[in-house]
Amino acid sequence: MFSSIIISKFKTTPTPFYYYDVEVLKQTLSKLKAESDKYGFIVHYALKANANNKILNIIKSFAIGADCVSGNEVKKAVECKFKPEHIVFAGVGKNDAEINYALDHSIFCFNCESLQELEVINTLAVTKNKIAHIALRINPNVNANTHKYITTGLEENKFGINLWELDAVVDALNGFKNLKLIGLHFHIGSQITDLNSFKSLCLRVNEIQTWFINHKINIENINVGGGLGVDYYEPDTNRIPDFATYFKLFHDFLELRPNQKVHFELGRAITAQCGTLISKVLYIKKGVNTNFAILDAGMTELMRPALYQAYHKIENLSNQQLTTNNQQLKYDVVGPICESSDCFGKAVNLPETFRGDIIALRTAGAYGEVMSSAYNLRDRAKAIYSDEI
Ligand SMILES: *Cc1c(COP(=O)(O)O)cnc(C)c1O
Repeated sequence: MFSSIIISKFKTTPTPFYYYDVEVLKQTLSKLKAESDKYGFIVHYALKANANNKILNIIKSFAIGADCVSGNEVKKAVECKFKPEHIVFAGVGKNDAEINYALDHSIFCFNCESLQELEVINTLAVTKNKIAHIALRINPNVNANTHKYITTGLEENKFGINLWELDAVVDALNGFKNLKLIGLHFHIGSQITDLNSFKSLCLRVNEIQTWFINHKINIENINVGGGLGVDYYEPDTNRIPDFATYFKLFHDFLELRPNQKVHFELGRAITAQCGTLISKVLYIKKGVNTNFAILDAGMTELMRPALYQAYHKIENLSNQQLTTNNQQLKYDVVGPICESSDCFGKAVNLPETFRGDIIALRTAGAYGEVMSSAYNLRDRAKAIYSDEI
């Protein structure tokens, strides 16, 4: 839902661009904070969902940490003044320069994904005479019931240390004198809407914890990752994810040891609903069985539909009237890029649509602008913010 003032601003701004509703972001963060604080849970924001400075500064102002998956994200978090003791660093392929940078800044924790990675971090920490805090990212073999490209916690996925490797990893840790094990880390996937997946994760974490207790290893931190999904179909009615149920579930099902802290790494749930990709219709073209609405935005601005068949709600903001016989027409809404996967939606119901109409692609604040590319030598889309209009 956009006010007429905002729509007229859209009409006079060169398209395509990202529009961020700062109020929605702040309301989301307030609710997130209130619900996680009830249980003393610690939340880190996954920078990879959206790393715009303005967005990061707002998130940081809610006393939320940073979850990074590359050296440049760690650098960005440091530059945006997230406290080093609130920065975690995950990723299956951390290179030496990235590890060294994070060591230099004494971040809270490396979430380590393999035995060889532990060895490399230890060696680099020895050279710097530092102790690296590490958590073991364990592959819990729990199905997230989401798209297969964003499922990360199954044994067939590249992420994390598998359960059968734990003995070897724990043995090796005894020899890595510059590593300090401070936690266990899990992340089973993204856009998870079936909360049973999180319940399964909790139960698996409990089993794994028992293994560590039996091995007399004390674990201070349990990091359960991110993945809470958002409603791409009803962005106006379900603007803020159900954080209350989500956090309560972990409170109810995780068996914690005394003084153990629980960490979360949410990305999408924080920024998805505050962002919209705004574009214009360039052409309407009749196909064999369909009409094409060809937009000036494409997979270069918003890659999710092409990458994993993701759904984004598409709205015509110029013409919200139905046709005379009260019908919507069907359009294949596509971009200008020379790829057939450059399609935002097939047989989308829209009121009759014309060249020049403003089209909104909703729920694009996470994994939208950050994934944009210059393919076809396209210009990068700009961002505008609701409080700067
Ligand atoms: C991507 C990612 C997240 C965030 O996932 P969302 O679905 O955006 O909440 C958290 N932790 C790790 C390790 C990730 O790779």
